[in-house]
Amino acid sequence: MFADNDPRLSQLLEGIVRLASGDLSSRIEVSPARDELDAIITGTNLLAEDLQIIYEELEQRVQVRTQLLHEAHLEMQKMAMQDPLTGLANRSALIDALKTALDAGAAPEEGPVLLLMDLDAFKSINDSMGHTAGDQVLITVGQRLRGAVRADDVVARLGGDEFAIVMPSATPDQATVVGHRILAALKQPIELPGRSVRCGASIGLSAGAEGQTPEDMLMEADVAMYASKAEGQNRLHRFEPALLLMRRLRSQLVEDLRAAIKSDGLTLYYQPVVELATGRVEGVEALVRWNHPTRGFIMPDEFIPLAEEAGLISELGLWVLRAAVHQLRSWIAASLVDNRFSVRINISATDLQSLQFIEDVRNVLKETGVRPEQVVLELTEVAIVKGNELDRYSLAGLRGLGVGIEIDDFGTGYSSISYLRRLPVDRVKVDRSLITGLGTDPSQPALVAAVLQLVRACGLEAVWEGVETAEQAGILRGLGCLSAQGYYFSRPVPPDQIPLLLADQPEGANP
Ligand code: C2E
Ligand code: CA
Ligand code: CA
Repeated sequence: MFADNDPRLSQLLEGIVRLASGDLSSRIEVSPARDELDAIITGTNLLAEDLQIIYEELEQRVQVRTQLLHEAHLEMQKMAMQDPLTGLANRSALIDALKTALDAGAAPEEGPVLLLMDLDAFKSINDSMGHTAGDQVLITVGQRLRGAVRADDVVARLGGDEFAIVMPSATPDQATVVGHRILAALKQPIELPGRSVRCGASIGLSAGAEGQTPEDMLMEADVAMYASKAEGQNRLHRFEPALLLMRRLRSQLVEDLRAAIKSDGLTLYYQPVVELATGRVEGVEALVRWNHPTRGFIMPDEFIPLAEEAGLISELGLWVLRAAVHQLRSWIAASLVDNRFSVRINISATDLQSLQFIEDVRNVLKETGVRPEQVVLELTEVAIVKGNELDRYSLAGLRGLGVGIEIDDFGTGYSSISYLRRLPVDRVKVDRSLITGLGTDPSQPALVAAVLQLVRACGLEAVWEGVETAEQAGILRGLGCLSAQGYYFSRPVPPDQIPLLLADQPEGANP
């Protein structure tokens, strides 16, 4: 037995307190007595040992779990910051990176610089070749971007065919060099199964200044990118305040155009198409003009692209269609023209893609009672060739209504003869660039003769546009060309001058 005042009792007590306080590595000393008390002490030590082992195992397990949790968290973060298709950063990651770079407050003129990029031809690739091909293009573009920049630059896909790059520290000039390197890399064709495509891009550059937010930089880069796009493919523009003004003017112009379409602010001019052999006016082409309240007359080359971009082209197309066919009806009603006379109407690629357009044509024919053969729709070669199955379907639908279909600007696109043969068209209008040398360049008549032969071999007939001199008209007539159009015969004129032109026709050409 042990005495009440045995010092080991207090040692045991202290030991238990230590263990209880969490110090599982502490042990209580066993005395040489090896009595009952020592047995209790040994038991306590063993218990402590066990506890320590269990505790350590637990701790290890918690560590492993924490690590797993941490990794899962990182993965989730990555997913939230990553574009799933390309594996590039996404918009929020880009904004984070911009913010970090702006906060770091690099030396002035040393970044951050933001490049914003939009692919030029992506929509038509996606539409005509399908989404799998479209995805492949986006992935390849992503890889090329990554390959063109430094490891610490952030490359992001912002959605659709829009990409962005943040260079945390670069001068605008350095970034411009990188931008051009990217444009060069994108000029290389992209190989898709069975076909290779090219997809240029437009880039806008914004250099971060003190006090700017990521959103400011994105807005500036967007404005600059717009300026690049407006200049054509494969351009890079740096943001300047003047561009903001241009953008404001442009959106004002879009609003004005929207109003003009609604309130008859547009007018149609008409240019005669002449039968070369007789001088008879066989029809007219309707050419739209915009009489702007403050800017005066605006020509279609300026506002048709604007209408396309702003999504106003269908409304504009419908207005032109209705105005031109109604005009034709009033000429017929006044017996100014006979039923061989036709009105030609320019149709945008967007119109061709809309099934509603076929309905519109059907309705306006019904409404006016005009014979469908007297309405000829002019479609550019590019619109038809670039188009997809739906376009061919629409083309057949239009054809089914009995209206004439003509390929405009023929010779500037890339139709093959076999392609031309398959199209449901009646006629081509040869682009004026093919006859510019006629009368000055002695080899030109041979080219014209060859084109004429090609067109006829496809079972079609040609109208020659851009005839400016009597000599050109004479050569075309001599080569056996049937119809022509151009300043030599008449400039486009307002409709009230058409009766005069018709009255001026040579004898025997009148209806
Ligand atoms: P386009 O269909 O090729 O029209 C012919 C253009 O050449 C017209 O310019 C016409 O004025 C011009 N032109 C005619 N004869 C001659 C000539 O002898 N020499 C020269 N140098 N030019 C001549 P405009 O009216 O400015 O139209 C430009 C383009 O705008 C048209 O080219 C057409 O693509 C488009 N456009 C015009 N009206 C419409 C429309 O109502 N809808 C659509 N979607 N596009 C239209
Ligand atoms: Ca035309
Ligand atoms: Ca043309």
